[in-house]
Amino acid sequence: MIGLQLGRMSPREAERLLAFDREHIWHPYAAMPAATPVHPVVSAAGTRLTLADGTELIDGMSSWWAAIHGYDVPELNAAATRQLGKMAHVMFGGLTHPAAVHLAERLVALTPEPLTKVFFADSGSVAVEVAIKMALQYWRSRGRPERHRLLTVRGGYHGDTFGDMAVCDPVNGMHHLFSDVLAKHVFAPPPPLGHTADPDPAYLDDLANLAAAHAHELAGIIVEPIVQGAGGMRFYAPEYLRALRDIADEHGILLILDEIATGFGRTGELWGCDHAEVTPDIMCLGKALTGGYLTMAATLCTDRVADGIASGEAGTLMHGPTFMANPLAAAVASASIDLLLSRDWRDEVDTIEAHLTTGLAGAEELPGVADVRVLGAIGVVEAREPVDVQAVQDIAMACGVWLRPFGKLVYTMPPYVSTEDDIDHITSALWAIAESL
Ligand SMILES: *Cc1c(COP(=O)(O)O)cnc(C)c1O
Repeated sequence: MIGLQLGRMSPREAERLLAFDREHIWHPYAAMPAATPVHPVVSAAGTRLTLADGTELIDGMSSWWAAIHGYDVPELNAAATRQLGKMAHVMFGGLTHPAAVHLAERLVALTPEPLTKVFFADSGSVAVEVAIKMALQYWRSRGRPERHRLLTVRGGYHGDTFGDMAVCDPVNGMHHLFSDVLAKHVFAPPPPLGHTADPDPAYLDDLANLAAAHAHELAGIIVEPIVQGAGGMRFYAPEYLRALRDIADEHGILLILDEIATGFGRTGELWGCDHAEVTPDIMCLGKALTGGYLTMAATLCTDRVADGIASGEAGTLMHGPTFMANPLAAAVASASIDLLLSRDWRDEVDTIEAHLTTGLAGAEELPGVADVRVLGAIGVVEAREPVDVQAVQDIAMACGVWLRPFGKLVYTMPPYVSTEDDIDHITSALWAIAESL
């Protein structure tokens, strides 16, 4: 009997769980046994996480970009319960189900028009693997197997599997650990910082030249549109994305946009690519797709890509996860999309952007702070030096806020349903942290 229940847990029970956790369970990017403590969450509702000792924390992270509606959301609970009454899961090979079709209808309608074909993956990392596989199979089918490399920019993050790692930032992604097994792709420098900055003509020239030099071997270009997430929380100007679209068109290369972090309104537009009014050939979705309830992702592509793959030797797309199109996740995803569209999400995100902007104004003057930036419902305080994760978390928790920094970056992407009071707490915590740097 583990004794997990709503509300509090006895200190002894919490200590027992934590002791087992420390010795036996890996956490993200963590040592085994654990080098740093974790905190036991027993429930979550709205924008609040409740810890075993009854402490409530305002969630500044949306569980890594996912819980855009907060927690314990009646509409999503109802969708999950309804679907449970029908079936939790069924294989997708040779079978289909209403939950998958209803979700695919929404995704095709909501994503940029040329994207018509949907592949359901079980995590963001797999969605990117599938995108890469689509691009490589496309060129193989077209009789151009030498087009098997990807062009990307430094500072990116696309997931943790080997195919994805090969397009992550080589330094952050620790390519040196795996250099003998990672595919060798073509890296441009990171796009210059600044969502509203004027584009740098020299950067654009270099990008065009790099693409031209490698065009004969390039299957695709892959980037995160407008916001580079876990690779550095960097915002860049739409002109760079437009340039990549032009370069892709000029050389017939496929443009893959990884919208796993940026999708579903986070940047103030429904899709990151909407800032630049460009459309990709392949798009990856994840994270907020199910409103943070269940693991599911999707890779969409155009008719051209799908037809290309179909015309080849294999004829089929060689991928098929066991839990592909999981009905429970699909039902919740449709409910999450409907809920998002039923609310004035744009106004919610704009309001959060305005509050983060005013709340953090002036923090960039602090000696330990290199930069402060806000875009949509994303706020970033970049330190001059890598931060002490433990110390930063302790300050945030003392302010009643949950934040999880990495490297030099202390950042927030709160649920869209956060109140002004929630955002004020979060910016107070960020200030306290910034002052401590
Ligand atoms: C989180 C993320 C991924 C990986 O998704 P997982 O669900 O963690 O596998 C890929 N690309 C981007 C841009 C992400 O933010």
